[in-house]
Amino acid sequence: MKAFPYRGWSVDTCFGHIGKYNHVRYGDELVSLVRRGAEQGLNLSFVSQSDRGGVHDRSGTRMEEATLRLGMRLHVGGHFGGHAGNFLSHDLIETQSELFRMDESGKRRTDGNFCPSNIVALGRVSAEVAKLALRHPGASLLHVWADDAIEGSWCNCPQCKGLSASEQHGRFVLAAAGAADATVPTLAVDYLLYHDTLFMGQSEITKAFPPNVYATFAPRERCYAHAINDPNCRRNQIYWKQLKQAVKQFNGRVTVFEYYGDAILWPCCTVSIPRVIAADMEAYSSLGIPISAPLIFGQSSFWLYGLNLAVFAAVLLRQRIWIDRDRHGRHRNHKLRVYSNPLVIRVIWGVIWGHGLSGDTIQVLLNS
Ligand SMILES: [Zn+2]
Ligand SMILES: [Zn+2]
Repeated sequence: MKAFPYRGWSVDTCFGHIGKYNHVRYGDELVSLVRRGAEQGLNLSFVSQSDRGGVHDRSGTRMEEATLRLGMRLHVGGHFGGHAGNFLSHDLIETQSELFRMDESGKRRTDGNFCPSNIVALGRVSAEVAKLALRHPGASLLHVWADDAIEGSWCNCPQCKGLSASEQHGRFVLAAAGAADATVPTLAVDYLLYHDTLFMGQSEITKAFPPNVYATFAPRERCYAHAINDPNCRRNQIYWKQLKQAVKQFNGRVTVFEYYGDAILWPCCTVSIPRVIAADMEAYSSLGIPISAPLIFGQSSFWLYGLNLAVFAAVLLRQRIWIDRDRHGRHRNHKLRVYSNPLVIRVIWGVIWGHGLSGDTIQVLLNS
């Protein structure tokens, strides 16, 4: 297997905003995570921030600084399209409601995305992208993701009604690519293959993407019982087909955003799929995909999905890993056995959410 030139973790730093979770401690945790990753041979951090590029995210900023200090590749951005306020000031709806998206009932709304057929709206959004680019001058890729919603939260105005979610998203990406290029010429942006924008099609918009646009493949609804290219899995075949098309259309500029450590997808249940991950990595690398960085939520993902993440890193770095279980199917390794015990996982999550302790603190508690 060819190793991915760039591999690392995509860390949702917004997790640090939840409840009593402490910014300073979460920042310490993320910095140590980057350092440990670099020691193991990882060379990329994606600092995923859903507000306006992490203006208020101190833990994410510290992770960004640590990544650049260690000479690693930096990606930033995320679903900053989750609230139109990140694109357009909500006050504008009083005087320029046509900038905002129209819902199915014909009402203009400040939530979700905006109207991508409106030239002024696109101009304003491009200016926000330029500001983001300037805020992260050391980044190589700015993820310009729209609202995180299955139905897309896009526009139903008379000009947009006939446009698919992919085409509406594509208009935004095209404008963002121009803004990034004009501001920081080394910075790329991305088109997200996810939810209803997975089916990119061959529209004029997506064919017009310039070379500073990557595709980010985020197959959240795929099947994790089978490898992504398993010919016997009908569901994964749909994703595999879309991915192969994207690799062609984007001339290999594709990054894979997997969910092997996502506590939201797996509702805090421990799920270990080492064989699927190993087979996935083979499949992804067979297409020559240069970047792979699964989503994690700081150290807590290593407690819940330690085996998955260890296998991911080991496979990428071509290290051998033994998954040693006893006759009851339990891990022989004492730590893995403790970590994969559902009761322990519930307690860990209770402690994290209830008391705002960082993963490192819990590690110390459990090791004592
Ligand atoms: Zn519209
Ligand atoms: Zn399947």
